[in-house]
Amino acid sequence: MSADGTPSDWALDRAHVLHPWTNFGPFEAEGSLVIERGEGCWLWDAEGRRYFDAVGGMWCTNLGLGRADLADAIADQVRTLAFSNSFVDMANPPSARLAAKLAALAPGDLNRVHFTTCGSTAVDTAWRMARYYHAARGEPGRTHVIARENSYHGSTYIGQSIGKRDGDRVPEFLYRTEGIHHVTCPHLRTAPDGMAEAAFTDWLVAEFEAKIEEVGAERIAAFFAEPIQASGGVIVPPKDYLRRMAEVCRRNGILFVADEVVTAFGRIGHWFASEAEFGVVPDIITCAKGLTSGYLPLGAVIFSDRIWQAMAEGGARWFTSGFTYSGHPVACRAALEVIGIMEREEILAHVEEVGAVFEEACFGLAEMPTVGEVRGRRLMICIDNVADKATGRTFPDEVNIGKRVSDACEADGLLVRPIGHMNVMSPPLVMTSDDALRVADTLGRALRRVADELV
Ligand code: PLP
Repeated sequence: MSADGTPSDWALDRAHVLHPWTNFGPFEAEGSLVIERGEGCWLWDAEGRRYFDAVGGMWCTNLGLGRADLADAIADQVRTLAFSNSFVDMANPPSARLAAKLAALAPGDLNRVHFTTCGSTAVDTAWRMARYYHAARGEPGRTHVIARENSYHGSTYIGQSIGKRDGDRVPEFLYRTEGIHHVTCPHLRTAPDGMAEAAFTDWLVAEFEAKIEEVGAERIAAFFAEPIQASGGVIVPPKDYLRRMAEVCRRNGILFVADEVVTAFGRIGHWFASEAEFGVVPDIITCAKGLTSGYLPLGAVIFSDRIWQAMAEGGARWFTSGFTYSGHPVACRAALEVIGIMEREEILAHVEEVGAVFEEACFGLAEMPTVGEVRGRRLMICIDNVADKATGRTFPDEVNIGKRVSDACEADGLLVRPIGHMNVMSPPLVMTSDDALRVADTLGRALRRVADELV
């Protein structure tokens, strides 16, 4: 309750909001942390406490908050053209210019763009597009897709069915199982028989080939993969894995869909990670988040000229998919401004530099008694907490280790994200090397305090 007797935002939120991924027990008991203001990498809560946001919103506030240049561009676009739909033959300047810019930045002949509202709707659309493309080419039987265990591809029906993180699946929800298959997550530490990297890669590729054989290549439309599995705990795959999986796809006429919702726009130092980091030119890229630096919701499916031509020539003439806010002029203008700032301020080079500092400082935390593994690349890092370093045994669920660590950080003015027994960080790309060292130091002290309580 505030001084004048009106309920606080915390009370209003607690009484009325169903949050994404709500955990009802703690929510009823504690409510939420209400963030009122943000500037650069910092957030302020309703009580005026300040936090360094190492979560980066949620893998998205790449340029930091409160930028006047972005606010001005957005305000200008609202005054000029706040909305115009993109259906059928309607277009607007920001969406046309943004599509051209994305085509210029994307690898290979990925010159075509379909705008969506977020990452989930981009993944949904890619799933439809893959099937539509094959049907248009005269292979309507290619309706199945293959994805990986432990992946996250969004929260729509199809996104949650293609994704498969254990904790996300609840019996009350429906998931499509028909025509969606999963192969092993490429996490080296979980390799069978403790295989080394090269042997594990061979094993994963052989498993993929066997799955294709089992389903029948002539029935498979696409393979979906995050270049680095993000919400699954920042799983960086073995070095040659994605390139070899892409080769198998090519040989079998299967489209390679790179879900770059997290990895695009600088998170690991490239516009797109697939080609620059892993040597793969996908057929389709899905992206969102950093595209607007989180200032406005926007997603995009970037796809090849080849797919466009096949759909245009052989399709049913109508690609009946899209959203009221596809190509939203204000969101597209925000994205154009974000890309412009990234170019002018050489953000990719900055990520190389600060990312190296952050990696080294965070990898040093692997020494802590409750840290089983530190994983990641540049500005996406995961701390995997364990009860027993030798066996990798995790703490029982009731210890709620990830949340304990994030609460300990929060008490010290740092936000890190708990995901099950892990803690994940994706700070704004604009943070400095000093920030990176301070984040790792604060996190290290929190891990030490929690370890002292538990072991
Ligand atoms: N794909 C990946 C790889 C993601 O990490 C996410 C969200 O975290 C999504 C898709 C879904 O994006 P959105 O939450 O914008 O719908």
